[in-house]
Amino acid sequence: MMAGNTSGMRIVLLGPPGAGKGTQAKKLVDALGIPHVSTGDMFRRMVALGGDLGVRIQAIIGSGHLVPDAETCEVVETFLTRESLWDRFMLDGFPRTVPQAETFDSMLSKRGKRLDAVVAIDLSEQNVLARLGGRKSCPKCGSVYHDVSLPPKMAGLCDRDGARLTVREDDQPEKILERLRVYVRQTQPLLDYYERAGSVRRVDGTADAGEVSARILAALRDGQND
Ligand code: ADP
Ligand code: ADP
Repeated sequence: MMAGNTSGMRIVLLGPPGAGKGTQAKKLVDALGIPHVSTGDMFRRMVALGGDLGVRIQAIIGSGHLVPDAETCEVVETFLTRESLWDRFMLDGFPRTVPQAETFDSMLSKRGKRLDAVVAIDLSEQNVLARLGGRKSCPKCGSVYHDVSLPPKMAGLCDRDGARLTVREDDQPEKILERLRVYVRQTQPLLDYYERAGSVRRVDGTADAGEVSARILAALRDGQND
């Protein structure tokens, strides 16, 4: 793996549910101008569209399990192609399994590309539980808040469009534990996978969101001398 110029970067953000991947990806879009690509958001949009596919995806997400690898990879490949994003992306929530990472590597190499950086946000299980336990989302625009650490200006309402904030179905306490189990079993092995391919930049996610962004930017800069 090699770090490139930040104006054309292919970055993967890894970390447990609630580590702050979505929050950081949105902040880094402003700092780096790299588009945020979230498979969780893509799947939630598919659910909102309804139909048989939406209902099926909703059942999978609601159970805390993962959408099948082949389907997930196809959604990502179609999206990156349609939006012409093969040179610039900040992937949040993908890849999430070793088979997805293998398929993604071959999608990239087929196009003569490779990842520039894998950033892993570390957060203890205790902090993950506190983060997910207080997460509120806007059902309309997808903005994410937290009851304690990142509350909206008006209690319960989205700053951007005034919609009433909701708790994601998969952020219910028993679902959170299942998602953490899924993370340990299926996503954590990705750290080893990417460590073998090159360097994973590990960043401590235990700080306010601005400080974590500064740490990620520093890790990306350091990596440019790899
Ligand atoms: P979190 O923000 O808690 O990490 P996401 O919003 O990334 O969660 O994902 C929500 C759900 O969407 C996942 O629990 C899973 O069901 C589905 N999902 C998202 N990304 C993937 C993926 N790469 N592979 C399979 N399922 C996924
Ligand atoms: P992920 O995408 O990794 O699942 P999110 O970005 O959705 O994580 O963050 C999970 C919850 O924690 C959200 O409610 C978010 O507002 C909050 N949060 C994110 N980063 C921080 C931080 N650095 N400090 C405190 N709370 C945070």
